[in-house]
Amino acid sequence: MTSTTLSLKQRNAALSSPARQQELLEGVELTGAPEQGDFDATLASHGWEALTPAQLEIFQINLGKLCNMTCHHCHVDAGPDRKEVMDRETIDACLDALDQTAAHTVDLTGGAPELNPHFRYLVDQCVGRGKHVIDRCNLTVLLLPRLEDLPAWLAERGVEIACSLPHYRQPNTDAQRGDGTFARSITALKRLNEVGYGKADPNRPLTLVSNPVGAVLPAHQAKLEQEWKAGLLENYGITFDRLITINNMPISRYLEWLEQSGNLQAYLELLVNSFSACTIKGLMCRNTLSVAWDGRLFDCDFNQMLELEVQQPDGQRPHVREFNLDQIAQRQIVTGRHCFGCTAGVGSSCGGAIA
Ligand code: SF4
Ligand code: SF4
Repeated sequence: MTSTTLSLKQRNAALSSPARQQELLEGVELTGAPEQGDFDATLASHGWEALTPAQLEIFQINLGKLCNMTCHHCHVDAGPDRKEVMDRETIDACLDALDQTAAHTVDLTGGAPELNPHFRYLVDQCVGRGKHVIDRCNLTVLLLPRLEDLPAWLAERGVEIACSLPHYRQPNTDAQRGDGTFARSITALKRLNEVGYGKADPNRPLTLVSNPVGAVLPAHQAKLEQEWKAGLLENYGITFDRLITINNMPISRYLEWLEQSGNLQAYLELLVNSFSACTIKGLMCRNTLSVAWDGRLFDCDFNQMLELEVQQPDGQRPHVREFNLDQIAQRQIVTGRHCFGCTAGVGSSCGGAIA
């Protein structure tokens, strides 16, 4: 992996432009692949003339691009140098929109969502509404002195913690997330165990999220979970409830690495050739709506990073302030070649494997 230490934006890299990322992806020659690597044509060949939403179940809120880390593979291009965070007014607009839906889950992501100054306010508001709340946590953020009480605080509210940890061994994790990350992640996991997370208590669910290091698809999720449970318990005395695997999406800093390492063509071929029709029904864009830090609405977090805003039948690309459930329910989901990242193999979503 490259030794990326700054965001693409900070480095003023060409790929900091979402349009440039799309150009690069769409420009890769895939003439030998099914449907020439055209996602919509591939869907159509399996009877889906358009990708349309199902019932909205998950309201995903991206609280900003600010993060205490700068991982090589980050699809958000997050980092300490990114100052974009959701303000209180937009958070309240999210809550108003949430109240118009029957979504049962609020999925908080970033960056590091815990660094948003309104994080605890939002969690309390969602828990008060009876929602299941997921905090997508990078683990190391929990070691910041001002967040030391956060594990117990989240535990009291029954918030699910979904933690990124590429591997249960140090070299693989540090290769992807930076030197020293593994040791700090282990410390944070122990703190979560101490407050009751990861011990099969439905009110303290601890999920680990793993994405592969390199240009490959993840290994079998259930098998990895067994291996990780044994490895973390034996080596560190750590327990957790479930492991989910996700594919690396060919966007942002991971796209940069693919290009610079000469893996772009082969990885796209792998994704396209591994297309699995049984993943379509369960694609996360079908039951999730993604709100950006500035309040714009997207079909998913990946479309958000590529600035592909939702397209309503009325032609509007609304802000969360203008949320209209009927229009959202009747939209067509915006797709592109990056979508092959979600349909490859057993599929990939914020909830892990699909099929
Ligand atoms: S992958 Fe997660 S922890 Fe790493 S820089 Fe991106 S948002 Fe931060
Ligand atoms: S990237 Fe994945 S979740 Fe997003 S629109 Fe494409 S298929 Fe759906």
